[in-house]
Amino acid sequence: MKILVINAGSSSVKFTLFDMDQDVWLAKGQIERMKTPAAILKYSNHRGQKFEKNVVANSYEAAISAACLALCDNEHGVIGSLDVIKGIGHRVVHGGAEVTGSLRISEEVKQTILDCYEVAPLHNPPNYEGIEACEFLFPEVPMVAVFDTAFHQTMPAASYTYAIPANVAAQHKLRRYGFHGTSHNYVALAGAKALGRDVKDVKLITVHLGNGCSITAINQGRVADTSMGVTPLEGLVMGTRSGDIDPALVLFLCRAGYSAEDVDKMLNKSSGLLGLAGIGSGDMRDIIAAADGGNAAAKLALDVFVHRLQKYIGAYAAVLNGFDALIFTGGIGENSGRIRGMVCEKLTYLGLELDAAKNRANEIIISRNAAGPKAMAVPTNEELMIARETMRLLS
Ligand code: AMP
Repeated sequence: MKILVINAGSSSVKFTLFDMDQDVWLAKGQIERMKTPAAILKYSNHRGQKFEKNVVANSYEAAISAACLALCDNEHGVIGSLDVIKGIGHRVVHGGAEVTGSLRISEEVKQTILDCYEVAPLHNPPNYEGIEACEFLFPEVPMVAVFDTAFHQTMPAASYTYAIPANVAAQHKLRRYGFHGTSHNYVALAGAKALGRDVKDVKLITVHLGNGCSITAINQGRVADTSMGVTPLEGLVMGTRSGDIDPALVLFLCRAGYSAEDVDKMLNKSSGLLGLAGIGSGDMRDIIAAADGGNAAAKLALDVFVHRLQKYIGAYAAVLNGFDALIFTGGIGENSGRIRGMVCEKLTYLGLELDAAKNRANEIIISRNAAGPKAMAVPTNEELMIARETMRLLS
């Protein structure tokens, strides 16, 4: 059975076609710089063929049509006809407090996605438009929404409740929702499997470190706490986001003349590694290179990033009252032995001991202390998780 996974963002659409009989991807790619004359399709298939070409992508329908043409293309295509696609899985960022799992898309589910525009103004609108485009292009194909927030809805109230007046929180739906849930869920399952354990028998701390960063404490398959909050701004230091700050800093800036929009942009787009290092990039590879080249601000950015992580891991070890494995994932977590090493060398009190060679080689288990908790580097695969969820709901 062929399942198409769509991740529609504000300026790009990512797609992956899976053959779920074999649990493998056949082709994947993305349309970038949508709604500009420079829109480009980047495509690769399982035979190792790749191409890039400019496309017209003035709408989500046009962008997804360009992807479909490539999937059926004589030279690079992997299917003879779109008719073999029997299900479409959509990444949807926010499902609110009621959505606790993936859902087959219906008018009611679409309304739920619309209802969350207020709490996810950047993400839910393009996700919704991606769904409508697929409804137009594939009117007969059943579709499933897989929500970033769903996994985190297993969190207890003590973790998701902000200590603000309860009536204000209720009126504006202000609570910790958590994000990257599909990734945390995937690496928890894959990590437990690699340990030869059932996820229901272990306590895990999963750390997703990409351009966005979040950390989750998972107790026997259920979320005990997670660092992102009502929006993906809270928690760890990220590429361009501040993560935790004193909330009074926002008030201070507003009183100093910044508008709410200015502060929103500052904390989401100009802060984090980008804002600290001042080298015009929030990309971890650039930060590390600058720090190694003697740039003091980049070195401080790196130290703030690692310090925040160290604090959160300690806090989540406490929340879980001990843990079995610390799992790194995301672009930084999967690839940077350097960052994993900087974090873990400060956590020896928890019994974590890295094996330097395994850590350098990005092996799955990177620790050497058989008795203590394991440290792991587990590649995430949100698209495969979405495809599996789509299969599960359609069969
Ligand atoms: P993602 O959002 O998951 O694609 O992750 C993007 C982040 O991963 C960027 O900050 C990259 O610099 C970072 N990254 C990718 N590869 C490496 C690497 N080998 N070392 C350090 N950071 C990396």
